[in-house]
Amino acid sequence: MRKLIRADRVIDGSGAKPIEHGAVLIENERIIAVGRSADLGAPQGADIIEAGQGSTLMPGLADVHVHLAYSGLPHKKAFRAELIEMSYAAVALRAATYAHATLRMGFTALRDMHAPGGTIIDLAASIERGETIGPRIKACGRGLSVTGGHMDQPGWADHTAFRDMTQPCDGPVGFRRGAREEIKRGADFIKINSSCSDGDRIGIWNRQEMTNEEIASVCDEARMWGIKVAAHTTGGDSLYNTIVNGVDTVEHAHFTDERIIEEMVRRGTFYVPTLLVNERNFEFTPEEQGVSPSSWRWLIASREAKWKTLQAARAAGVKICCGTDAGYMIPHGPMNWRELQLLVQGGLTEMEAIVAATATNHELLEIDAGRIAAGKLADLLIVDGNPLKEIAILGQPDRLTVFKGGVRVQ
Ligand SMILES: [Zn+2]
Repeated sequence: MRKLIRADRVIDGSGAKPIEHGAVLIENERIIAVGRSADLGAPQGADIIEAGQGSTLMPGLADVHVHLAYSGLPHKKAFRAELIEMSYAAVALRAATYAHATLRMGFTALRDMHAPGGTIIDLAASIERGETIGPRIKACGRGLSVTGGHMDQPGWADHTAFRDMTQPCDGPVGFRRGAREEIKRGADFIKINSSCSDGDRIGIWNRQEMTNEEIASVCDEARMWGIKVAAHTTGGDSLYNTIVNGVDTVEHAHFTDERIIEEMVRRGTFYVPTLLVNERNFEFTPEEQGVSPSSWRWLIASREAKWKTLQAARAAGVKICCGTDAGYMIPHGPMNWRELQLLVQGGLTEMEAIVAATATNHELLEIDAGRIAAGKLADLLIVDGNPLKEIAILGQPDRLTVFKGGVRVQ
């Protein structure tokens, strides 16, 4: 099966100038040629798809920080309680609808940043087998946290139990075992929580939760399996220690300095700023979220710091990725595109934001897409308009046509 898609412009994901009046030839699930329409002509046996006047053809987007097991409730207590009455099968089935909703908005790849049990690992496999329609998903299973740490969610009553949502580990041996357990369950990468804000106790906004030895132990184990480690971080020394002990991607990373930025450039550490979740805090009142006044001060300070970090990272040439934290205060599907808009608001060009969400994100995910080039998977997006002029078009589903592996899915 061959398809030729012609569009007014082709953005290839590399950051190069768009090809005016371009075309992409697809055979089965892969791209076999890209160039000017005039040069590609009308190859024999190919279905021709005219994207139309003013249209743009670009790689499918990726969101590298989502939580498909959660619905995006803003109130902290509601978020903690929402899975209490749901079986893991129910969580996975609901996650399938979230994954589909996100695919329909042009996101052909996702990275799930921790979920109960193996729910999203199983969903990813079901999609891969073609049983369920959804984006390509890389999942970590349960996140690894120190006992009582950020992802172990302290504060439960003695007569209740919080278990299997994340995996509490302690000591270098404990963390190595934790990584092995998630890998055994089918994890594509390991998520850790190395540093964490304690908004209620001012002065320890960048508290390091894991010891350097624990971080190094997880990273060493992951390296032996050839997989990446992602870390939830806040900033300062704890972020620096997380990076130098070998993680591949840092999430959030609000508070940085020259030393941290330099180390990220030197090591090629991916930076996932998750601007949307920071901004989202301010679309609700503290009461609607159930946060204390001191936590609110943390939210304000970390938001301000993150804009500065983004600018410094861009200037230094850090690999900037596009991830929202959807599932946590953010519903799945209608808002993921806003991270691109916020990257632009933070000083990236529209083209740089698109590169973050396509080529750089797919490099992080190790999925052979995110670029329009011969040999790549045909995960593509036709936009009715020019996102380089108006990035918000990506938020209008009736102006998007989505292909995954050469097959139209929206
Ligand atoms: Zn998250």
